[in-house]
This record gives sequence, structure tokens and C-alpha cells, in this order.
Amino acid sequence: MVIFINGKYIDKGDVRISPDDRGFLFGDGLYEVVLAYNGKPFRLEEHISRLKRGCEFAGIKLENADEIKEFCRSLIERNNLKENIANIYIQVTRGVYKRAHRFPPEGILPTVYIAAAEFSPNRVYQKYGIKVITVPDDRWDHCDIKTIDLLPNVLAHQKAFDQSGAEALFVNGGVLLEGTHSNFFTVMEGKVWTHPESNKILSGVTRRAVIEICNKLNIEIVEKAIEYIEISEIDEAFVSSTTLEITPVVNVDDIKIGNGRPGELTKLIQEKYQRMVNS
Ligand code: PLP
Repeated sequence: MVIFINGKYIDKGDVRISPDDRGFLFGDGLYEVVLAYNGKPFRLEEHISRLKRGCEFAGIKLENADEIKEFCRSLIERNNLKENIANIYIQVTRGVYKRAHRFPPEGILPTVYIAAAEFSPNRVYQKYGIKVITVPDDRWDHCDIKTIDLLPNVLAHQKAFDQSGAEALFVNGGVLLEGTHSNFFTVMEGKVWTHPESNKILSGVTRRAVIEICNKLNIEIVEKAIEYIEISEIDEAFVSSTTLEITPVVNVDDIKIGNGRPGELTKLIQEKYQRMVNS
């Protein structure tokens, strides 16, 4: 597999990452995941804007952010992924410098790594829905920044799997926030509800696509936090993300959602999303 690292296209097996890389030492970096459908990256512009915003927030001087779009397209070509769904992984770290908490001096360039590989969204999950669990949200207070500092997410996700779930939803102050790698939506009273954009959740590119779909379908979207105690009143639920796309949630902490099967509105949004990504 050909990957992109710091201006070069090379075989993945030949990549050498320094142990002094800030990503390795501190998780000091940001990432994006983009899917390309039949060679066309879906909403690449939005992913790059989020990456730029994260870099600005973190003080990482990523000068060639706009060129990343070209590098992604080139990787699709070089890895013959034009006929498939490809998962493009982009990671930027603060670069390589001897270990110290303070930032490296001017002139130390960020590490930029991009890989594209064939990917298959989980259609079984999408058809039948998944079980999820909830976990206390002990992540930091800038969940709107897509950092690679993902230990709480990794631990929560593993906990879900250990309890035969497929995603964990973070709960803070009795409020349902989002998944470890997804945004969370519910359907109640015929309306679609999701947590408002804030520092408590990542503003998902897929989340925004869902809102657009609902607007087009004249389905009312309510951007309001849902309380954990309201779970039993939920008619339908789903999670959204680049890789989960639209995946129904049919069980939360062993509480059945609706009739325990993917809901009708969820299926409609799922169908429209598939049309959107393939258009
Ligand atoms: N929330 C979190 C915590 C995530 O890590 C992700 C994606 O990885 C999302 C939401 C969904 O974001 P997107 O739709 O841009 O993939």
C-alpha cells in the first residue's frame, strides 16, 4: 500500500516514524477520517476545515492543509481505489523534537501522514441495528476538537464490546452526549433530536449531513440534549459517523428502543444518506 508521509509517497512498509514524534509521545496531534465513494471523497472540504480549526486551536502550524485534498486524491489513484469505498486516514502531529512538554521551536514542521485503504461499512449493523451502552463522560472539555488523544474513547468502546455492544455513549450530568466515534440521534414525537454543537461533542460532518437530510424531508430537527432518564421514551435512535454512516441503535444499556428494531424514520434517513454519498 502506498501512503503519504511528509511530502513523499512511499510503501507503507518503508515508513519510519521517530520515537520523538509528538504524536507518539503525547498524542499531540489531530486526525480526520474521510470515506471516498467510487473515488470521490465525501465532504473532504469540511474534514479539512475541521482539521485546520483543530490545528489552529492546538497551535500546530499546518501550512499545506489545502494540498492535503490533492494528496488524498492521489492516494486513491495510486492504490487503485477508484471503484471501491476507501477509508482515508489523515494524521497531523506537532512534529519531531526532543521530549519536553513545551512546544518545539519555530521551524520544526508537523508530521503529515495519509493512508487510503479499501473499506466496507458494516451493512449488518446498518440493517439490524446495534446495542449500545452508556459510560460516564470523563473525557476532557474540548470534545469539539478532533484530537488523537483518544484513550477515554478507546476504553469506553472496549467496554461496550465486552458487554456485547457496538458503541458506547458518553453521559455527563445525566445528559446523553455522543458516542466514542459517532454522534447520537433520537426520534421522539416524530421529530429528530440531537445534542447541540458545543465543546461537549464533536461536530460531525455526518451529523450535519443528517440535519440537511431532515430539513429536506421536512422532518423537524431539535438540537437539544436528551436526559438519560428519557431513554424509555425514545421511539427510535441512531448514531452517525463517517464510517458507521447511519447506524440504528436498538438497545441502550439493555433498554429496548421502540420495538427493538431499526425505526422507519431512521431507515429513511439511512436511505437518503446512501443516495447522498453515492451522488
Ligand atoms: N463524535 C466523535 C467523538 C467522533 O470521534 C466522531 C468521528 O470519529 C464523530 C462524532 C462523527 O464525526 P464524523 O461524522 O465527522 O465522522
